[in-house]
Amino acid sequence: MQNPLQQENRELRQQLGLLLEQARANQEIMQRYQQFDLQFIGADGFRDLIERIFDTLSASSDLDVVTLTLFDADHDIRRILAELQVDLSLFPNLAFLEHSRQLGWLHGRLQAPLLGRYHAGEYDACFFSPDMTPASIAIVPLRRNHRLIGVLCLGSRDVSRFAADMATDFIEHMASIVAVCLENVINTERLKHIGLIDPLTGVNNRRYVEQRLLEEVGRTRRQAYSLTCLYIDIDHFKKINDSAGHHGGDLVLREVASRIKAELRLSDALGRFGGEEFVALLIDAPLGDALVVAERIRAGVANQPFLLADRNQIQVTVSIGAATLIAPPRTDSLETIAEELLGRADRALYQAKESGRNRVIGAQ
Ligand code: GH3
Ligand code: MG
Ligand code: MG
Repeated sequence: MQNPLQQENRELRQQLGLLLEQARANQEIMQRYQQFDLQFIGADGFRDLIERIFDTLSASSDLDVVTLTLFDADHDIRRILAELQVDLSLFPNLAFLEHSRQLGWLHGRLQAPLLGRYHAGEYDACFFSPDMTPASIAIVPLRRNHRLIGVLCLGSRDVSRFAADMATDFIEHMASIVAVCLENVINTERLKHIGLIDPLTGVNNRRYVEQRLLEEVGRTRRQAYSLTCLYIDIDHFKKINDSAGHHGGDLVLREVASRIKAELRLSDALGRFGGEEFVALLIDAPLGDALVVAERIRAGVANQPFLLADRNQIQVTVSIGAATLIAPPRTDSLETIAEELLGRADRALYQAKESGRNRVIGAQ
């Protein structure tokens, strides 16, 4: 027979045990949250974060399909990523839409996570991957400051994995972390992009072309293809400034940049190198092919007068020096090889100026 004190003691111990157990369980949950958070917070750039979202979620949450759709109304994100050479074709489960309305009926259901069975036809906008049809799904809105930035869609072959009456605390927590991290990496990429763009013409700046040139020289050395550098300078630009004014000069700079760009491939690089000088890197282009492109650039500028804001027309020409790099010596540093290539293109440009301007000269 226990006395009342012993009885009370035993009950207290039991309660303490329960509390300890709960604390341990809560700690486990916290740790799980933290592990998740750290995976995403540690991401280094957009590509890395997207990889982590797909890999971490699929592996640690035992999911059969994960897709991410981002809303990108003016194609801003896509353009920045393309210009930073992020290859979006590596992510078949990543999609962009202009607006959440393109998700059809789901658009009105994105206030909170939507869990339940998968119904073909209803959720196709989110599960666009053709090789996998889930049995149960979670469609999770990603919000930043009350703005819907995307939807994360989780799918499982297990029909009981997601059910409408399940608690969504963890999913909501994860969504808020993913949304913050996405916004963060997109802003970082945006900043990176701004630092590599010439604000007047919208083409890349000198810093970008110098970086790219080093990368391309390295690649050319490894893969032994040709790389051609075009040094392009507007003829008598001082006179253009004098006659059309500084604003007219700026307009000519923008238009020349856009006419050069129109002749280049997406994989080529174009930068404004100084006042009225541009450098284009033609990837995998031997001198003969590059001279054809350079001639098209020259003609594209010279053959069509430029229309100024005051409706006056102005005739503009450019001179171009081209130099090709083929199998550079292994002993030279990338910097030396890059400088030497630019120097040869610059000297060819000088010859083009000397021999009358409005012409292309290839360095021998
Ligand atoms: P050349 O045919 O020998 O190249 O003659 P040029 O007059 O084009 O050459 P120069 O390099 O002597 O002059 C370049 C001029 O470009 C001088 C400068 O006033 C002008 N310039 C440089 N940056 C800008 C700019 O951002 N906007 C405008 N409007 N003009 C600029
Ligand atoms: Mg000039
Ligand atoms: Mg010049």
